[in-house]
Amino acid sequence: MLELRPTCEHCNKALPAASTEAMICSFECTFCRGCVELLGNVCPNCGGGFAPRPVRPSRDWKNGNDVAHHPPPRASFTNRWMSIRMRIGRRK
Ligand SMILES: [Zn+2]
Ligand SMILES: [Zn+2]
Repeated sequence: MLELRPTCEHCNKALPAASTEAMICSFECTFCRGCVELLGNVCPNCGGGFAPRPVRPSRDWKNGNDVAHHPPPRASFTNRWMSIRMRIGRRK
């Protein structure tokens, strides 16, 4: 599941879960559209490109089609361990 980081990592602009301005790279580094343009669509943390972050509906739009009714599948132990390792590596 996406972390849905709440702010742009470059200018600290607020990017709530419903924001259509949020852009993420494959490691979920999160930036606003303005900063992505400034950065030439290249992530300064990992060198990857960006894609618009999907909006997560916070309320039940249709037939229980929201986060609470359809939680994403649990990550396997391996995937969770990999993402923890990646996070530790990025923080150093
Ligand atoms: Zn920004
Ligand atoms: Zn990145």
